[in-house]
Amino acid sequence: MLKNDGIIAPEELAPVLPPPARLEKGPVAIIECLQDIPCDPCVSACPTRAIKMKEGITDKPQLDFDACTGCGLCIPKCPGLAIFVINMKHAAGKATVSMSYELLPVPEKDQEVTALDRAGKAVGKVRVVRVINPPAYDRTAVVTIEVPADQVNNIRAIRV
Ligand code: SF4
Ligand code: SF4
Repeated sequence: MLKNDGIIAPEELAPVLPPPARLEKGPVAIIECLQDIPCDPCVSACPTRAIKMKEGITDKPQLDFDACTGCGLCIPKCPGLAIFVINMKHAAGKATVSMSYELLPVPEKDQEVTALDRAGKAVGKVRVVRVINPPAYDRTAVVTIEVPADQVNNIRAIRV
């Protein structure tokens, strides 16, 4: 549980997961930002205004899943590394997870890396399918990995 060990529990994650009907439409963000902190760059990063904070900067971000296109532009703008984009329509039995990556070396496309769960435990080997790392992202690369579909809400980091 987040307040006890810093790891989001399944019951805490459930409210921020996209509904099945939205997952059927392709990539969509999951914002795993569950504490009231004074932070809001995700709001202005979103070109479709899908992220809102109703009570001001210390509110938790609320994502309009239907307004989210899954573009991933919010991912590198989040200092908490709390935003992911998942795509359940990637391939049969496979999904993708896009995440921030701030370490060196930055992995390359098609490189095999170790997938980690929220506790940092190795889940298995996965393939990098895309790396976006322009100067505008200020050394926060966005790495997309291909994962087994049933691991899409479990894998949240990589080890290169
Ligand atoms: S993935 Fe794109 S559309 Fe969705 S919340 Fe992030 S910036 Fe907005
Ligand atoms: S930028 Fe990240 S840490 Fe800050 S409010 Fe948005 S999701 Fe939370």
